[in-house]
Amino acid sequence: MVGIKKPILVIGGGISGITAAIEIAEVGKNVILIEKEPFLGGNVIKMNNYFPKLCPPACGLEINFKRIRQNPRIKIFTSSEVSQIKGEKGNFTVQIKSKPQFVKDTCTACGKCVAVCPEERPNKFNYYFDRTKAIYLPHEMAFPYKYTIDEEYCKKEACNKCAEVCEYDAIDFSAKEKTENIEVYSIVAATGWKNYDASRIENLHYSNFKNVVSNVEFERLIASNGLGNSKLVRPSDKKEPKEIVFVQCAGSRDKKNLSYCSAVCCSASLKHALSVQEKYPESKIKIFYIDLRVAGRNEDFLNRVEANKNIELIKGKVAKIEEIKETENLLVEAENILLGKKQKYEADLVVLATGIVPNDPGFTIQKNSFGFLRTEKNEGIHPIACSKKPMDVSTSVKDATAAALKAIQ
Ligand SMILES: Cc1cc2nc3c(=O)[nH]c(=O)nc-3n(C[C@H](O)[C@H](O)[C@H](O)COP(=O)(O)OP(=O)(O)OC[C@H]3O[C@@H](n4cnc5c(N)ncnc54)[C@H](O)[C@@H]3O)c2cc1C
Repeated sequence: MVGIKKPILVIGGGISGITAAIEIAEVGKNVILIEKEPFLGGNVIKMNNYFPKLCPPACGLEINFKRIRQNPRIKIFTSSEVSQIKGEKGNFTVQIKSKPQFVKDTCTACGKCVAVCPEERPNKFNYYFDRTKAIYLPHEMAFPYKYTIDEEYCKKEACNKCAEVCEYDAIDFSAKEKTENIEVYSIVAATGWKNYDASRIENLHYSNFKNVVSNVEFERLIASNGLGNSKLVRPSDKKEPKEIVFVQCAGSRDKKNLSYCSAVCCSASLKHALSVQEKYPESKIKIFYIDLRVAGRNEDFLNRVEANKNIELIKGKVAKIEEIKETENLLVEAENILLGKKQKYEADLVVLATGIVPNDPGFTIQKNSFGFLRTEKNEGIHPIACSKKPMDVSTSVKDATAAALKAIQ
């Protein structure tokens, strides 16, 4: 009974961590939610839209942010990580490290600081395709909705311009990194995933050719709040690509790279192809696949793609990609298995469907051979969603709800 009075810790503020935190808080337990980025939302917040309904990420997340705002039982630490976990089920002591909060909660996001900031930084939210000022709003749906400062690029007091124009006294360059220990009853680990490093797949030349991008980067290229402001633009020259090739299983199901299937990449590429067609009905799309794996309601995507005469599904593995120097277009060489011959296709943009790799949680915990967190070996710690295996949003949310119950029990 003593233990139950302690809060429950949720590590990771993506869709699964947010869901677990809300479910726990709404049955009356206190929750501490830790997120390493300055905003909640994880990978989903960066997407253009998400299947199966193809709604923008705002749809699901906005309502969750409202539930968080209305619930005083949820305490959020952003720009924070867990560095150590000690103790056992019912009685954990957790060390949390938080980066200095140079922008206080009095920030109203008026934007005057950005207008005077002279420094720039590469924009991590857009996978470094563009730049923001050193003081920046992470994105327009950021939660918490306040500016943040990139310590690496800001000159702080030596510049001080943002502090001078801020009418709300929200800038505090004296802020320091904080370490604190908290006692918690149980832990939900929702540390999620990152994209497989496509530069490791040698024949696809991701690092050498600007117009070969990964599937997560494509989300930011096509997003209405992405690089092209509603247009789809390619990285090299901001031209709108009209001939696009998608390469499925880029590195996945391949012993030299990721030997497993990431479960969502086929549905993601079908979603991408339909989104391109919606924006540019005259575009021509080719999707090279080994097998197409779409589950449940995503079968409908496959039917829609098969019915679209501008999207061609080609069974075959891409052997190599070359760049045409003058145009920066790509030549994609692949075996068309059903026709039984090798073919070359020219494209303005190539999208690699790279798989899901687990994030390193930053504290000691049992993992499987791929680095995903183990569910059966960590008593009192409940790994959920993509921290334990690749899965889509709706499965992640169900998993988070189930884990919320386990964490309370
Ligand atoms: C290209 C692509 C497109 C996709 N499109 C769709 C789609 O349309 N529909 C769909 O249903 N699914 C889609 N998915 C899958 C979807 O992205 C996942 O289901 C979803 O992101 C899982 O959420 P999560 O909370 O488990 O992980 P994440 O979204 O990765 O969130 C994890 C959070 O934890 C934080 N974190 C990590 N480590 C720490 C730490 N040590 N301390 C504190 N915080 C930490 C991260 O910063 C992040 O905010 C797609 C996947 C890919 C690859």
